Amino acid sequence: MATPERIDDVLQHNLEAQYETLAASLRHEVISNALISNLTAMKKLELNELIKMAKSSYIPTLLDLAAKIEKVDAAVCTLTLGMYGLCADCEEEIEADDLLKDPAQPRCRACREHSRYHHDD
Ligand SMILES: [Zn+2]
Repeated sequence: MATPERIDDVLQHNLEAQYETLAASLRHEVISNALISNLTAMKKLELNELIKMAKSSYIPTLLDLAAKIEKVDAAVCTLTLGMYGLCADCEEEIEADDLLKDPAQPRCRACREHSRYHHDD
C-alpha cells in the first residue's frame, strides 16, 4: 500500500532545499567577497566555519545569509529531535500555512504577535 504524501514530508523537503540553497549562496558570497581566495581552501571548511567568517566580515549580504542559515539550521535541528513544527515558545503546533511560506518559522502565530507587540518590529 502506498503511503500518501504527508504535509510533514513536504515541509521537511522544503526545509532541506532551503538549507542547500542558502549554503550554496553563502559559499558563493564568501568567494565573491574574497574572504577566501581559492575554492579548494573553502571546500575544506565546514559550513559553520563559513558562517562564523560571514558574521565577522560585517558585510551586510553575508550577515544576512548567515542569520538565515542559522535560522534554517535551528529548524533542521528540531527535525532531528522530532520537535519540528512546534513553537519554540509555547510548544503548540505552528500553522501549516506559515510553515509552507517559511519552513524555518520557529514560532506560532500567537507567539509572533506577542513578540511583535513587545519588541515593536
Ligand atoms: Zn507559540
